[in-house]
Amino acid sequence: MTGPTSHTFPPEVIAEIRARADEGRYAIRGWGARRAVPTFDDLLLLTASASRYPLEGYRESCVTTTLLGGRHGARPLALEIPVTIAGMSFGSLSANAKEALGRGASAVGTSTTTGDGGMTPEERAASKLLVYQCLPSRYGFSAESLRAADAVEVVLGQGAKPGGGGMLLGQKVGERVAGLRTLPTGIDQRSASRHPDWTGPDDLRIKIEELREATDWRIPVFVKLGATRVDHDVRLAVAAGADVVVVDGMQGGTGATQDAFIEHTGIPTLAAVRMAAEALADLGVAGGASGPEAGAEGRVQLVVSGGIRSGADVAKALALGADAVSIGVAALIALGCNSDTYPLPDGSEVGVSGEYALLGTSAGHCTHCHTGACPVGITTQSRSLERRLDPALGAERVANYLRALTMETTMLARACGKGDVHHLEPEDLVALTIEAAAMAGVPLAGTSWIPGR
Ligand code: SF4
Repeated sequence: MTGPTSHTFPPEVIAEIRARADEGRYAIRGWGARRAVPTFDDLLLLTASASRYPLEGYRESCVTTTLLGGRHGARPLALEIPVTIAGMSFGSLSANAKEALGRGASAVGTSTTTGDGGMTPEERAASKLLVYQCLPSRYGFSAESLRAADAVEVVLGQGAKPGGGGMLLGQKVGERVAGLRTLPTGIDQRSASRHPDWTGPDDLRIKIEELREATDWRIPVFVKLGATRVDHDVRLAVAAGADVVVVDGMQGGTGATQDAFIEHTGIPTLAAVRMAAEALADLGVAGGASGPEAGAEGRVQLVVSGGIRSGADVAKALALGADAVSIGVAALIALGCNSDTYPLPDGSEVGVSGEYALLGTSAGHCTHCHTGACPVGITTQSRSLERRLDPALGAERVANYLRALTMETTMLARACGKGDVHHLEPEDLVALTIEAAAMAGVPLAGTSWIPGR
């Protein structure tokens, strides 16, 4: 006989409590927040009608080129599209996955990013534009790799775990991963949550100066923030000398983190992007990604990430003030994450439903990147699993996905009457809910009301 379900203690919460009681430890998993929070789906674009003039999709061009990082005279990253690949570590991802992302991004003229654990030669060779992360752990960080990079990104936080460090469980710490990190094999690795050589914004300024000197002021310096106190954090990053600010909302993914972090820290990307854009505008440094002032000194570009899936998401993020977006989980899905098959070069497919079942999940529900037993060869260090991801096939899928995102973005921008995706603006948006209107700072649909303003 069944009875009413408790709202406070539904069956899944009972199961979580029992699991903690059984084992005395907390849950760790991959991916980002599962909970429902306001997203870009809660916004709509006001495309052209009588008061706006749409551009023709097949005859009138729409600029997508994006320059990032000219604030202090470094050579900016010149991207063909306003979508980049976010930082994901070799260790969390297989070498084949890193190579596929690099090749796919390069095919469409955009950048990819290293992660905790250093830069692999395949990744550098495959990536036309590679951003090298400087993380608190310094695992695999070297002056040689820094000088081989096209930009450096100082990571102060990540949307899935702001205030926390990364983790790589022992089953993924094989010989190559351990060698790059100069750590023992097979042992859980917990990365530091803060940089060892700075305790605040003044030290960050010194750190950024050091990175510039080490690279002869040649490459831009990005600063990545997990979205929490976005207004203050963006202002401090700019004061410390960031050329580009990257803000990662709470829907951003991770290879392995405590579930409590993923679901209960940070703020949604929707709220973060507008706060960051307004902070940059208030400082008078926003823009410079395209148009007559593209690459101009003194300008700081904003990159946002965390739950971006479609060209509609990209268009809305740009309208809220981002200059570009970064994708992580979506790029892995393009590679084959959560597929119940993996492809062979001859075009046939091999089913892996049974392997998802062994992990206690199924295709479409998997968040088991931390286990190292990825059925499709993306988040693994097992040679036999890694071989399931062919870098060439993966790269083709990533490139296709990035092209489709860009086409959707330009289609929507043209329909709003814009000849440059960076001309999308908050005035092009309305919100479907009061919460989204308040977070994004745009009117509730059918009204001129912006809650809280
Ligand atoms: S399929 Fe692989 S990459 Fe995707 S969530 Fe599962 S373990 Fe992670």
